[in-house]
Amino acid sequence: MAKKMDFAQKSKKKSDVHTCPICAGPIQYVKHVKAVKTEDGAWKFRSLNTGVCKCNEAEVYA
Ligand SMILES: [Zn+2]
Repeated sequence: MAKKMDFAQKSKKKSDVHTCPICAGPIQYVKHVKAVKTEDGAWKFRSLNTGVCKCNEAEVYA
């Protein structure tokens, strides 16, 4: 029983960290709020969870 729980906790922790296959850096997930214009001309905010690493951090934080 105790072993089973241990394993579950470990695998849960592991899944929080993603490594980019391109730059081999850690990927951080940030909430990225994007303004989107709707068809009737109103602005809506959409929040997206975006994975950020060295490959695209300049793009996301620009
Ligand atoms: Zn990368």
